[in-house]
Amino acid sequence: MSGAAPGRTALPDRYRIALATGQLGETLPFAPYIALTHVVVAVTVLLLFWGDAPTAYLLALLAGAVVPAAACLAGAGFCRRARLSAARVGTAHAAVRLLALTLGLAWATMPVALFVRADADHSLYVVALCAGLMATAYALGPIRHVATLFVLPVVAGGFVALAARGDDVSRTLAILFVVYAAFVLFTTGRMARLSTGRMVDRLRVAEQNETIGLLLNDFTENASEWLWETGPDGRFQNVSQRLVQISGQSAAQLLQAPFETLLRGAKTAGAEIEGARPAPGAAAAEIIALVAGRQAFRERVVEVGIAGAAQWWRLSGKPLYGPSGEFLGFHGIGADITAARQSEARIAYLASYDSLTGLANRALFQDLASMECERAERMGVTCALLYLDLDGFKIVNDTFGHALGDALLTRVATRLAALARPGDLVARLGGDEFAILHPCADADDALALARAVIGQISVPYVIDGVQVEIGVSIGIALAPHDATTPETLLGRADLALYRAKAAGRGEVSEFTPDLEASVLKRRDLEVDLKRAIAQGELSLHYQPLVGLVRGEVRGFEALLRWTRDPGGPVSPADFIPVAEASGLIAVIGRWVLQEACREAARWPEPIRIAVNISPTQFRHADFVLDVFQALEDSGLAPDRLELEITESVFFEMNGTTVSNLKELRALGVRIALDDFGTGYSSLSYLIRFPVDKIKIDRSFINEMGTRHECLAIIEAILTLARELSITVTAEGVETVEQAAMLRARGCDDIQGFLFSPGRPRAEVDGLIAALPGRFASIFFAAPEARAAA
Ligand code: C2E
Ligand code: CA
Ligand code: CA
Repeated sequence: MSGAAPGRTALPDRYRIALATGQLGETLPFAPYIALTHVVVAVTVLLLFWGDAPTAYLLALLAGAVVPAAACLAGAGFCRRARLSAARVGTAHAAVRLLALTLGLAWATMPVALFVRADADHSLYVVALCAGLMATAYALGPIRHVATLFVLPVVAGGFVALAARGDDVSRTLAILFVVYAAFVLFTTGRMARLSTGRMVDRLRVAEQNETIGLLLNDFTENASEWLWETGPDGRFQNVSQRLVQISGQSAAQLLQAPFETLLRGAKTAGAEIEGARPAPGAAAAEIIALVAGRQAFRERVVEVGIAGAAQWWRLSGKPLYGPSGEFLGFHGIGADITAARQSEARIAYLASYDSLTGLANRALFQDLASMECERAERMGVTCALLYLDLDGFKIVNDTFGHALGDALLTRVATRLAALARPGDLVARLGGDEFAILHPCADADDALALARAVIGQISVPYVIDGVQVEIGVSIGIALAPHDATTPETLLGRADLALYRAKAAGRGEVSEFTPDLEASVLKRRDLEVDLKRAIAQGELSLHYQPLVGLVRGEVRGFEALLRWTRDPGGPVSPADFIPVAEASGLIAVIGRWVLQEACREAARWPEPIRIAVNISPTQFRHADFVLDVFQALEDSGLAPDRLELEITESVFFEMNGTTVSNLKELRALGVRIALDDFGTGYSSLSYLIRFPVDKIKIDRSFINEMGTRHECLAIIEAILTLARELSITVTAEGVETVEQAAMLRARGCDDIQGFLFSPGRPRAEVDGLIAALPGRFASIFFAAPEARAAA
């Protein structure tokens, strides 16, 4: 009756043997009791019916009970001692069934043999014995059919014997007998099924446990995570192989070691301060304190050094308490997150550092600048921001290619890093802009660093066999003196840088509050300038250039004039930079070209007109067209137009600049190099980009009588120009002595207040007529006359 496949799902094969063994195991312990009961009952029958029933039958019945009972005992004993193979378990089941059937059949004969001739008392014995015997089926357990094999023959024998008697009582008893047997069969079957079901559940749970165990084992041995456990005394217990591996300590060392041993390699507090992260040592100390205080902690990250290599662990732990609240220790989980940390660090690095130079990038700079500003304000210390812009980098980049440009930036970075003091941060803000955050004592300290930087950066570089030279301009702002936020600090350093650039190349400038005022002034100027263009407030003045051999007027320089309404005259030195920065220079420059050419076209030949051209204007793609248009419209011969450009045009040379230069020269327009000698004069440009004229800056002329070096430079320029067949004009000549010195050294012509400042167009004709006479009176008249001049 016991089912082989309890539960709804079919039993997997691997369960069958275990189940069969289990069923035997549940049945066999009852074997002695069953055997004893049947022997006792057989003996009782023998005694009760001795003399009333055939002795042979009684002895046979006794044998029929005793033999299977003995076999039952022997079998049970054997099964207990021996481990049963699959085949033997099958045999054992068959044997149990056979014994049950044998016993059943033996007892089935009893009512048939004894009941028919029995008196009322003996009939009662038989019925009671049969009923009692059936009850022993409850001990037969969950082995398939075993209870049925025993019960069916017994009930059949009883039923047949009762029915054969034919009286009403016997018939009723026969029916009750069947009902009783049906109940016994049903309940034993049900019990067997339940017990088998229980066994299967047990097997399944055992199997799951095993799987979990295996998984756990695997997890413990191989995963990046591991379990740890301490006892009530805070010492490790149940040390896993994985923990041994990960901690780099032996199991023996760990077992009975205090929890701190695990963090033995942790960095000591404050050993390293990395960005805004707390010191890793602090994390270890915190965990140790939490464990000591029996407090749970989750996902704490700690840095440990195992065998010299840094590793990152994430630890969680929880105190364990017994049923009565006693502390049992800690258990927790650890994870090796070194790989994740490393890639995190790599990403953080990429996000914070410039990939070309390895310097901090703008983002990191911003972060640290903000920290430094905050620190400077809070602690009353000073931090300088040096804002660097390379001079002449663009021309190197455009001339020699980006690969060399990149190499140059890397070399600049190396030099800057070498100059930085401990605690400084050198960053590349983009392009050829760099910044240094420099905690310092005062402004002088920052200035000293700036000068060292300018000195170092301008030392020539040899890259792939090419020697290149660049410079650097630096603006300085101080926190907290000039600003307390990184944005303002950078903005103010930028203003200072702007002034440094304006002062010439290779200069350093500190931020001063008036810089900001001048920015505001510039903004006003810009608004007004726009209006001025529309309202025709701009005009041109013309300053003559006088030949030093004969004193004739060889040309005029057109100088822009703005009479601001209200406000009066504004110097071009003030509004030209504003026009350049705002882009207004394009309109203004075009107007100047048109106006100057139209004016010059009416002058007697070969008097030339010189027009100042801003670098931004010159770099514009439409510039050549503007020039061409001005010449066309005015009918001026191209060789009577001279364009005055400054060296900065060469500094920021790009494709357009070079082609503009070539096209202009092809047109026949002359190029003059203005303000020569100021800023970053490099004679090599003169060879690479030939010009028609050099204009020596007036600062040299100014001091030529007093400073020996100025005269030496003027002489050198004159010699070089002669070699290269370049005309030389001296600007800002104010005295007869200056003119005489220049004339003696073979300078071609002069320009300056000595002869005339810039004058309105109405006075040009008068100047052309008068100046040769004035020149003659200076150089060709008697000494008395010269003195009078
Ligand atoms: P620059 O090209 O060097 O022009 C010469 C400047 O020196 C003029 O100043 C002139 O008035 C001044 N100057 C001439 N002779 C003497 C002298 O003997 N002593 C002294 N102390 N100064 C003398 P200005 O007119 O104020 O022009 C200043 C600058 O503005 C010019 O310097 C030029 O760079 C720029 N500029 C003037 N007009 C224009 C223009 O139409 N377009 C562009 N882009 N720039 C212009
Ligand atoms: Ca000029
Ligand atoms: Ca000049």
